[in-house]
Amino acid sequence: MTRLALKHGAVNLAQGFPDFPCPEELKVAACEAVNADINQYAITWGAKDLREAIQKRVKTYNGMDFNPETGITVTCGSTEAMLASLLAVISPGEEVIVPEPFYENYGPDAILSGAAPRHVSLTDDFSIDEEAWKKVFSNKTKAIILNTPNNPTGKVFTKKELSFIADLCIDHNVIAITDEIYVHILYDGRQHVSIGSLNGMQDRTITIGSFSKTYSVTGWRVGYALADPDLTTRIRKIHDFLTVGAPAPLQHACTAALHLPESYYQKLATDYDRKRKILYKGLRDAGFACELPQGAYYIFTDISEFGKNDVEFARHLIETTGVAAVPGSSFYHEGGETKLRFTFSKRDETLHDACRRLEQLS
Ligand code: PLP
Repeated sequence: MTRLALKHGAVNLAQGFPDFPCPEELKVAACEAVNADINQYAITWGAKDLREAIQKRVKTYNGMDFNPETGITVTCGSTEAMLASLLAVISPGEEVIVPEPFYENYGPDAILSGAAPRHVSLTDDFSIDEEAWKKVFSNKTKAIILNTPNNPTGKVFTKKELSFIADLCIDHNVIAITDEIYVHILYDGRQHVSIGSLNGMQDRTITIGSFSKTYSVTGWRVGYALADPDLTTRIRKIHDFLTVGAPAPLQHACTAALHLPESYYQKLATDYDRKRKILYKGLRDAGFACELPQGAYYIFTDISEFGKNDVEFARHLIETTGVAAVPGSSFYHEGGETKLRFTFSKRDETLHDACRRLEQLS
């Protein structure tokens, strides 16, 4: 869709990356690190300063305490953290539960790690059908992949929902691998809960984070995996052979990111709240059925009314209005043809431009 968007000069609301700059402090810290010759391999599991800064942030924000020496692994984005985690815990043929709709990388990740994915659908309003979830857990289940705040749905799991999932994990001896990269993009006063902070989950959860979204540096490729020492040893072995390590000067700049004041995070959420409302109004006015997301930076729409499937409609949208979005079927192992996902991780002007273009639909 990004390639098609470029071909047609469309506004790209398909791929989830900001078209606005990252904080100045990060650019300065990155340049300083390069100039100070922090240009060789960092220690494979991540620069000490960065692991210590992650430990402090995660302790205050997520209520979890990891020893930087034995519980934190810095990776090339959360993408590598997810794959390294799956490769570390899955033996070929073991089952991994993937709630649906899901972030599109989890399918290939499961295939690469040899896992047999089992899907469980979220309900129409993206909550949990407890009976369906109980049925999908079995003695073959090795892990579950969670993502909250969620891409593509914007769903933020509540403590009650996560406690229900935690109980299932404990009863079936299952590891939770939880992708929490939108942890600071929450709306309407919602609070983030990490499943790893719940009782009984500390030694059976791998929590994945990233600098990509919180600090608008998707191209830097710095993320991390947090887990107990036993899981961490396994993740670090895989990580070493996958990538050796994340970019050393950018790890230094990510340490500076973690020293930004609390007001940075408040502004981030306020800015995204405004952006979500701009796009939501534009989509509704153009005839899309959608709800305001609870977190992350996507709106997942229903396109049944337009009478085309997701792929046809996504092409039609690019060609006739000049706006790109992602076909819903990317987020399902089967189905999703009535859905389309738009991102609002863009400047207000970009979003207003997209909304004006969408007017041509109605
Ligand atoms: N996980 C989710 C849920 C995402 O939406 C994305 C990117 O859009 C990623 C992971 C990739 O993140 P990273 O840049 O940290 O590899």
